[in-house]
Amino acid sequence: MVKSPGSSKSSKAAKTPKRRTHRITLIPGDGIGPEVSAAVVSIVEAAGRATGAAFEWHRYAAGAEAFETTGEYIPKALYDSIEENRVALKGPVTTPVGGGFASINVALRQKFELFANFRPVKSLPGLKTIYPDIDLIIVRENMEDLYAGLEHVVVPGVVQALKIITEKGSTRIAKFAFDYARRQGRKKVHAIHKANIMKLSDGLFLRCCQTVAEGFPEVEYREHIVDNTCMQLVMNPYQYDILLTENLYGDILSDLCSAFVGGLGLVPGANLGTECAIFEAVHGSAPDIAGKNLANPTALLQSAVLMLHHIGESETAARVQDALEQVYREGRTLTRDVGGTSGTREFAEAVLRAMETPVKAQA
Ligand code: ATP
Repeated sequence: MVKSPGSSKSSKAAKTPKRRTHRITLIPGDGIGPEVSAAVVSIVEAAGRATGAAFEWHRYAAGAEAFETTGEYIPKALYDSIEENRVALKGPVTTPVGGGFASINVALRQKFELFANFRPVKSLPGLKTIYPDIDLIIVRENMEDLYAGLEHVVVPGVVQALKIITEKGSTRIAKFAFDYARRQGRKKVHAIHKANIMKLSDGLFLRCCQTVAEGFPEVEYREHIVDNTCMQLVMNPYQYDILLTENLYGDILSDLCSAFVGGLGLVPGANLGTECAIFEAVHGSAPDIAGKNLANPTALLQSAVLMLHHIGESETAARVQDALEQVYREGRTLTRDVGGTSGTREFAEAVLRAMETPVKAQA
């Protein structure tokens, strides 16, 4: 039952809005997480009130904060909640660098087999960025590669990290990307690799992509080496449509691509599996601006929009997205990362006001 955003099921639901309650596991996270989550919850609830949708948020801490109170980095109750609700909205959770506990994000993706990381990178109206009208999708394999977390000390001074690439994992992420392209009428898929050096691992990934591509003759299939892709993206991002990547390359290219649309404060993401889905922004916990009312909640808000589509709340999703775009078009209440002077709360209030008094976008 993997559904990616924009699936046809959700648009059917939009035509017959009726009162229903959605149970959603909420992980506010740490760093800027609590601030952006509070903003997003208030906006989603307001949109739901207008469309007849209600939300029950089941809140859980994760990471260092959870460890202090429960002795577990991911409490069992949190696992149970995601298993039961099947949908979670997640703020960033800090992963200690070079030691400490393992990444909570990676652990959740592994536990619930969230094999597809879907990251749309799309320009917002009115925002001056290095490139206008960007509309790219990053489809990133989410469970394998160097992120399998298999590292060990061979002898003191020598460490080995294992890059795991499987036929099963590569085929299913390629299938996800091509299915999405077919469903949404996207034209091109580029598989990103370094198979000239990692001949076996990236070679296997490419062979799987090639085999899947054969079943989708209407979608153009190309292959680019990852380092060249970085240069090509900066020179001309419009040559790409869907970037299909292994885990590590997808992580790096996501941050790079976010710069085209205004930075990490803007780009949303969905972790999709066969049973559950966790929606979270591309950005991390941004400790440099945490607790200062400076964070841009747009990335998590657009992740919530993906979530609303996923649960069949397309009308509610459109209400949020329209209000968000109105605030960007007007450009008066933007956060500092995109050239404004407003805080997280003021931005959220502007989105709420825009929902009350929508202005039709000029063609
Ligand atoms: P991770 O590896 O955990 O994903 P990261 O290394 O990409 O994290 P972030 O925590 O995302 O790092 O922050 C990178 C930079 O982007 C920081 O300077 C941070 O302030 C900025 N940033 C990230 N998210 C936002 C946001 N929502 N609003 C404004 N600035 C942000």
